[in-house]
Amino acid sequence: MTAELFALRGRVVVIGAGVAGLTTALELAPRPVVVLSKAPLGVEASTLWAQGGMAAALGPGDSPALHAADTMAAGDGLCDAAIVDRFARAAPEAIEKLARLGVRFDRARDGGFALGLEAAHSRSRIAHMGGDGAGRELMRALAAAARATPSIEILDGFEARRLVVEDNAVRGVLAVGPHGPALLATDKVVIASGGVGGLYDDSTNPLGSFGQGIALAARAGAVLADLEFVQFHPTALDVALRPMPLVSEAVRGEGAILIDDLGERFMADTPRAELAPRDVVARAIWLKRAEGRRVFLDARSAIGARFDARFPIIAAACHAAGLDPAREPIPVRPAQHYHMGGVAVDAEGRSSVAGLWACGESACSGLHGANRLASNSLTEAAVFGAIAARSIESATSRAPARLRALPTPPAPDPSPVRSILSRAAGVMRDGETLRAAVGPLAALAASGAPAADSAAVALTIVVAALRREHSLGAHSRIDFPERPAEPRRSRLTLCEAFAEAAANAPAVRARSA
Ligand SMILES: Cc1cc2nc3c(=O)[nH]c(=O)nc-3n(C[C@H](O)[C@H](O)[C@H](O)COP(=O)(O)OP(=O)(O)OC[C@H]3O[C@@H](n4cnc5c(N)ncnc54)[C@H](O)[C@@H]3O)c2cc1C
Repeated sequence: MTAELFALRGRVVVIGAGVAGLTTALELAPRPVVVLSKAPLGVEASTLWAQGGMAAALGPGDSPALHAADTMAAGDGLCDAAIVDRFARAAPEAIEKLARLGVRFDRARDGGFALGLEAAHSRSRIAHMGGDGAGRELMRALAAAARATPSIEILDGFEARRLVVEDNAVRGVLAVGPHGPALLATDKVVIASGGVGGLYDDSTNPLGSFGQGIALAARAGAVLADLEFVQFHPTALDVALRPMPLVSEAVRGEGAILIDDLGERFMADTPRAELAPRDVVARAIWLKRAEGRRVFLDARSAIGARFDARFPIIAAACHAAGLDPAREPIPVRPAQHYHMGGVAVDAEGRSSVAGLWACGESACSGLHGANRLASNSLTEAAVFGAIAARSIESATSRAPARLRALPTPPAPDPSPVRSILSRAAGVMRDGETLRAAVGPLAALAASGAPAADSAAVALTIVVAALRREHSLGAHSRIDFPERPAEPRRSRLTLCEAFAEAAANAPAVRARSA
């Protein structure tokens, strides 16, 4: 029996309670908002796990123009320049605003922000918190602020399973809460449900991050963008734990070097060496491992005895694995970390479905292009969460619809999808493996089984990767190593992905829109 939550009719519904969802809800105050969080607040959000911090041009000798240039360079020619410019200019104020909200940033002696350096940044511009505990501090402060805001109703333990859409306009959300299915009548929904790491065997993301927001939007007919661009963090701690603990770029920023099991430093001749963009470092490590070598991050001489104090969370993960990072090299390997693609949104965070906005990792505005610059995502979520809130404020409202009960999809289970997607759309891809994944994913996506929504998301990633017959940023095709002269962003709907699968998976052709 599906009950409608009448007391909450007409409220803006935000799906997700990480930095993106909570920023949107706080920016909308005092307008009444419902925040759906499938996990208890602060649990199972990537935000909580963030280590390095938030990028913004805050330091002397830095500027939004330099931050924008670094973002564009990492994005490998695919970024939307206007979005990048807007982001870089808004970033310093977004950080100052968080500080005013109560986020305790690490401070320099003069009281300014202590700023770290990370890969592919030309300046030290990473505002960090609690050493390497940025996400924990950010979630603490945002959750406290949201709980203290009377206009924000947080529905913990409510998982959005379907959007109700009529004539390409949002009319409601079907969620499942502790007492069963529930309908929320609304004409304004914000998807802020995080990334897709839970669709992969090896990921640094919480296991509950498996692209449900993309599935909700895709099933509602929304256009998705740049799905093939999945970022693999080069240095996940090479242990059996899932999610894999991350050894942040900030460790390389402080001088740690990459060596193989013969002790050879193999990144020294690459431009920017260990601080090259993530895709470059991830590929170099992947290739070393394909040669049968193991790879280590050696922080002994650059950081040494300071390691535990500067990186307490990473040190704890190393110690739990029986390693002392001050005295021995840390075993590392690439793991899925971030999704540049997602629900296609315009500069105001609007998707192609009326009344549907998206922000944070589940959205794709074109900011990251083919490869995200380190520490840009928390800042992105704060900047574009606020922009989405302002866009919602200025949007017209319709009277809440009378909602009819819908069939409730089963509790999602991404596990059957993981091995298929990991094999097909990993650090290096090829047409044959991608094509082989299309049929099984399409069948699963159409099945109504618990894995159907996850398979639908994986199918769109695989079809987008198959269509892109060149290598660019995080998308590396063994069979198409060339870079395109004029990189173009890609767009795809779930319908189109199904149509291509049905037409003949082996014949899916290159097509970038
Ligand atoms: C280990 C690690 C370290 C990182 N370090 C950094 C860093 O230093 N700097 C940086 O900029 N970025 C970093 N990132 C990336 C960054 O943390 C994420 O991109 C960012 O936090 C995403 O925020 P979000 O609000 O979009 O999603 P999340 O923080 O993942 O929040 C998603 C929310 O949606 C909820 N949800 C999901 N599906 C549903 C559903 N169907 N119904 C209801 N609720 C749902 C989840 O429960 C959660 O509350 C890191 C990521 C990881 C994993």
